[in-house]
Amino acid sequence: RREVERAEAFEPAVTRDGREIEVAANIGDSSEARLAAESGADGVGLMRSEFLFLGRDTAPDEAEQCHEYQTSLTALGGKPVIIRTLDIGADKQLPYLRLPEVPNPALGVRGVRLWHDQPALLDTQLHALLGVVPLDALRIMVPMVSEVGELAWVRERLEAVAVERGLTERPRLGAMVEVPSAALCAANLAEQADFLSIGTNDLTQYALAMDREDPHLAARADVLHPGVLRLIQATVEGAAGRCPVGVCGAAAGDPLAASLLVAMGVDELSVEPARVAAIKASIRRLDAASLARELPDLLAMPDAASVRRRLAEIHESVS
Ligand code: PEP
Ligand code: MG
Repeated sequence: RREVERAEAFEPAVTRDGREIEVAANIGDSSEARLAAESGADGVGLMRSEFLFLGRDTAPDEAEQCHEYQTSLTALGGKPVIIRTLDIGADKQLPYLRLPEVPNPALGVRGVRLWHDQPALLDTQLHALLGVVPLDALRIMVPMVSEVGELAWVRERLEAVAVERGLTERPRLGAMVEVPSAALCAANLAEQADFLSIGTNDLTQYALAMDREDPHLAARADVLHPGVLRLIQATVEGAAGRCPVGVCGAAAGDPLAASLLVAMGVDELSVEPARVAAIKASIRRLDAASLARELPDLLAMPDAASVRRRLAEIHESVS
């Protein structure tokens, strides 16, 4: 049975009602890219580039970054690789950046917000990213976007760097949706983005005002809270087919949540490499259209526990 599941992990994941869902992998560095390729993932849905910058005294230079990005692309053999620009701040700090200490770092200068004060850091990263081949396998993703202007600004920087390098090709540029305002204004973002990817870890934290690091709240900070689900629905409806929408937070790797995300219209799930086979298998058991008919009832429920219970019942009744 394991052998069969392994072989099937390399096949596309298609729901019972015929929707093909891309199941990609989340990675931290190029050694994990190999794990992603071996897992059968259809690509990399999130490379957290900040891992390259952590635990050292200076930022990695362009050549070192480019080598790491290229190694990841090569490992995936032409499948799409989404590399997220540096997402520093909040829980992840770099000693050499000397960011001021603030009482609420999760609400402070992090992700894309950092670029206004440190444009050279972004330009170096963009140069390193644009040094990879083939550029059509590369996707660049911007974290912590709260309004479309931030993405437009990164696109301008990307364009300037591409012109400087004499490139004719441009990689796709997308935004993470992990701030409630971005979810609610997804239509604006979809005008500017080539793809969106919902970061359910931060989206849950910011929607419920529950610190994702706080162990006292861990059991209650549940992505299945109807308030979080409505933000996810707003994202999919806002994008309205203008650009693909994925999910790269931990919810994508939870079979119950993943089935609901697909029923809501998400096109891609990005999970830990070790979860690729199981998530593909659970997509193949799903009738997305019939679960979608339950959505109004699920979204009207009072809390995450009720949604989780109802979803589990539905799963049991069909398997
Ligand atoms: C998220 O916020 O869901 C996400 C995928 O990004 P990170 O966990 O790195 O903040
Ligand atoms: Mg995040």
